[in-house]
Amino acid sequence: MEYDVLIGLEIHAELKTNSKMFCGCKNPSSVLGTPANTTICPICTGHPGTLPTINWKAVEYTVLTGLALGSTIARHSKFDRKHYFYPDLPKGYQISQYDMPLCTGGHLEVGGKDIDIIRVHLEEDTGKLAHEGGASLVDYNRSSVPLMELVSSPMLRDGRQAREFAENYRAILRSLGVSDADMEKGQMRVEANISVQEHGAWMMTADYTIEASAGKTLNPKIEIKNLNSFRSVEGAISFEIARQKRALDQGEPLVQETRGWDEVGLKTKSQRVKEEAMDYRYFPEPDLPPLELSDEYIEGLRARLPELPREKLARFMGEYGLNEVTAKTIVAQADLSRIFEEVMSELLAWVEASDDEPHVHKAKFGKVASNWLVNNAAGILMKQGKDWANLGVTSEDLAEFLMLLIAGTMNSTVGKAVLEKMLETGKDPHYILEEGGFGSRAKVDLATLVDQVIATHPKEAEQYKAGKKTLAQFFVGQAMKLAKGQADPQELARLVVEKLGD
Ligand code: ZN
Ligand code: MN
Repeated sequence: MEYDVLIGLEIHAELKTNSKMFCGCKNPSSVLGTPANTTICPICTGHPGTLPTINWKAVEYTVLTGLALGSTIARHSKFDRKHYFYPDLPKGYQISQYDMPLCTGGHLEVGGKDIDIIRVHLEEDTGKLAHEGGASLVDYNRSSVPLMELVSSPMLRDGRQAREFAENYRAILRSLGVSDADMEKGQMRVEANISVQEHGAWMMTADYTIEASAGKTLNPKIEIKNLNSFRSVEGAISFEIARQKRALDQGEPLVQETRGWDEVGLKTKSQRVKEEAMDYRYFPEPDLPPLELSDEYIEGLRARLPELPREKLARFMGEYGLNEVTAKTIVAQADLSRIFEEVMSELLAWVEASDDEPHVHKAKFGKVASNWLVNNAAGILMKQGKDWANLGVTSEDLAEFLMLLIAGTMNSTVGKAVLEKMLETGKDPHYILEEGGFGSRAKVDLATLVDQVIATHPKEAEQYKAGKKTLAQFFVGQAMKLAKGQADPQELARLVVEKLGD
């Protein structure tokens, strides 16, 4: 039997606001180890007679996310009460958005394919239950933390794609600065809806509902809850697809149910069978005004959108000639992205004065810089237990190091040793070369600095040889820059004449 796999994701992300969604309590979501029930008040613990007020920062963050995804932002929307009974929900209802979400539509790219987004809405998080020594405890710190929920269309086809969707979404949230979206900390939580349908037996309507083709019946949709790592997202979905296909092949019945992922046993397990759709008795939240957003407000936020991961990826590939794998690796890490760009601007500053072919230099330097950062520095950092955020080496020193390689002052074997020492000690590459006993071949003296400047400025060198002797001062200046001002200008001038002729 030939099957089609349909996967939709629901992703909740805690927003990085200072205060909670409907009260003035501190938002504890990015503070580890906040003692239980210390960031609470009568509002977020649902005391009778209290009134919620809207946290506009959370609205702003949700609109920014919608804009980044290309969603339509609602000029008029509202909050609704979603009722259900559970001890982590002190009011007996969650304030959410039902039929008028803030953001509708939009898409997210996965492997070159646009996956449609159904909606992104704003709601509040619940408290947390803990079970200890036969007792159940409730911590309301998380109660009413701003929570943004994205619902994707069921256009994803396998676990790998679903994982990439979640990873790309996290990259967007981080680049917008609206959520840290760390799955291990519960700041981002993924649920998946999966069904396996006989090929040709289904259709998707304009509102992304799956319906049976004439004379066919649909196989049930299974929900997997509480996926809290990217690995779990991929693993659970892959397992579930295989399980459902096997059951269908063997004629075993599948039921509509909620399943959980067993991270140790690497399988999904039934949690509860859904008899019928839960009735949440939604109705408009009477204690909050409708959300009215002006065009001005929305356009003001659109103007503030930073460069998004997808755009950055395209730029790194186009401008610096990086291949897709390398560019993706860099873009996925904000600190590495920043360092790469700083290093590039340092490298380009050295040739800027004379550069009439900036794209050639960008592509050449881009390849060397990305290669050394991704393939060498990353490994050394891991070995030294460090990361890009606390490198201890300035981007200027990294650029200087790369310049020594580009100019051929240092070969890559020496380069690797120097880089390791740089990351270990935070010292600059010239110092390490001179003090490090790398042999006279690698020793940086004034002559090699001058060689380096000549090698990186072939056009000026030619002009000089053709008679434009005033350029001597230019070479001295560039060499002095490399020597950080620690050289005798007359000696440099003498070396320039020695190498280029009088
Ligand atoms: Zn509160
Ligand atoms: Mn929700």
